[in-house]
Amino acid sequence: MTDAAPTTVPDETALFHRAARRNRFTAREATVVAVTSPAPEYVRLTLTGPDFADFTSTGPGDHARTFFPDPRTGELVAPVATGPGEDGIVRPQAPTFGRDFTPLHVRDEDGRRFVDLDILRHDSPGPAAQFAATAAVGDRLVLVGPRGSTSATQNAPRVVLVVDGTSLPAAGRWLAEVPASTDVEIIVWGHAVEAAHAYLSGFADRAFGLHSAGRGEGDHGGVDLVAALETVGVDAATYVFAAGEASALVPLRRHLRHTLRLPREQYAVSGYWRIGVEAWDHHAPIDPIDPD
Ligand SMILES: Cc1cc2nc3c(=O)[nH]c(=O)nc-3n(C[C@H](O)[C@H](O)[C@H](O)COP(=O)(O)OP(=O)(O)OC[C@H]3O[C@@H](n4cnc5c(N)ncnc54)[C@H](O)[C@@H]3O)c2cc1C
Repeated sequence: MTDAAPTTVPDETALFHRAARRNRFTAREATVVAVTSPAPEYVRLTLTGPDFADFTSTGPGDHARTFFPDPRTGELVAPVATGPGEDGIVRPQAPTFGRDFTPLHVRDEDGRRFVDLDILRHDSPGPAAQFAATAAVGDRLVLVGPRGSTSATQNAPRVVLVVDGTSLPAAGRWLAEVPASTDVEIIVWGHAVEAAHAYLSGFADRAFGLHSAGRGEGDHGGVDLVAALETVGVDAATYVFAAGEASALVPLRRHLRHTLRLPREQYAVSGYWRIGVEAWDHHAPIDPIDPD
């Protein structure tokens, strides 16, 4: 579940304000037009398609539900748009293979809009990581969303990002989307800090602090996100974004909520995947005993 701050009474001058917008919600057919590697740990797919002209993503925590072919049959089953320019999708009856990825570098070139997805290679590859491993120009996918976008805070003087390999793309967006004057500190876990630095440097030519909370093994042994956060420090003017493996985030979320007692608008915690769970639903509570 994403702990996004409530936005019912937006005050654009508030310290932790994050502008929220709604995007047209549709299913877009996408063709892979380039397969590159921004770092050895990632496969970058560059996508475009006939309905990409209004593909919009203005938030670093955005995701597009990306539908991949059945890894056994190669058949792509995915939602379809209700109609040209309309808001809505029709979901198929047959099983689908949808996974969430962070839209990167949305840009227009030669009259077409392009978006990148950086897919982490990992040890238990499902449909997404398997597809990425052999992806080729001309392959087809379907993207649903982002349904909405919540922009990076423009007012907080300091932002702390707590991320693993799946949320480093989001951290790259944070670096590029906060003002140049914002002090950004990044705590990375489950990923080599040198590799994280090289990857993040591709997003913005700016200074940032980078700290390791440990590589961890399958059960995140040795990773202590609370200790890492305490070392970096959180004051009344610091916004905290944390995302990655859901169970590792539970102690951190409890620390933010119950030890530091941060107001809801001062942090966002989002489970991006969960050890041992295929197609983790990030709407599910990461902490069942403290879900709200
Ligand atoms: C908002 C949001 C944004 C995201 N952005 C990105 C992104 O930009 N790039 C990216 O790579 N991922 C991103 N993710 C995470 C990605 O959706 C998951 O890692 C997804 O499960 C990968 O799909 P899969 O088909 O390879 O594995 P699945 O079929 O979902 O899972 C198969 C097995 O692999 C395990 N697994 C899944 N991911 C990992 C991992 N990273 N490391 C080790 N084991 C894993 C599962 O626990 C399961 O046991 C994002 C998730 C969310 C919610």
